[in-house]
Amino acid sequence: MRIVLIGPPGAGKGTQARVLAEHLSIPAISTGDLFRAHVERGTPLGRQARTYMNAGGLVPDEVTTAMTADRLREADAASGYLLDGFPRTVRQGELLDEVLAAHNATLDRVLAFDVPDDDLVRRLAGRRTCGDCGLAQHATAASGDEPGACQQCGGALQRRKDDQEETVRNRLAVYTEQTEPLLDWYKARGLLTRVNATGSVDEVTRRTLAAVLPSTSRSV
Ligand SMILES: [Zn+2]
Repeated sequence: MRIVLIGPPGAGKGTQARVLAEHLSIPAISTGDLFRAHVERGTPLGRQARTYMNAGGLVPDEVTTAMTADRLREADAASGYLLDGFPRTVRQGELLDEVLAAHNATLDRVLAFDVPDDDLVRRLAGRRTCGDCGLAQHATAASGDEPGACQQCGGALQRRKDDQEETVRNRLAVYTEQTEPLLDWYKARGLLTRVNATGSVDEVTRRTLAAVLPSTSRSV
């Protein structure tokens, strides 16, 4: 199965990708992780990406597409994968189609995780990151606005600038503006399933599997 996961920041997409990958025995491919790996290893694509980042610009779609195409050629992706983080725009969707066409492959499903903006703001605004070990965790009700201590190492928790309410609202606005046209584009092709991503991780996993497994049994 070839599945694309789309969702706003804070929707728990990365967590669901890992759980789903295990259930379906296919790799979860996060373009964020790919990106970091290429930059760290100093590959030609990583060096190209870094040039744009150093100049303060966005990494062009072609570079992200090339990294994704590279990864999809690896043996573990032969029988399918979950793509997390790409595509985010219609243009990227078109580029992914070109990659798939080169493999004579098509997408089986696009899952869009829906969470109301207010919930996302609450989730992200409550998130704290450990300054020592980097673990992200939720501030407990008791700690309120106090910085608190890391549950893993006892280090001081910090609130990332990215997770402050105004920044979160801006990120969500950018997401909606870029991604809604992509969702419409997939919907018109009958590929889109929207998943209610409110509630516990287990509840969301159950809904996600229900969205994916009917089409598995049909295609067998
Ligand atoms: Zn820590």
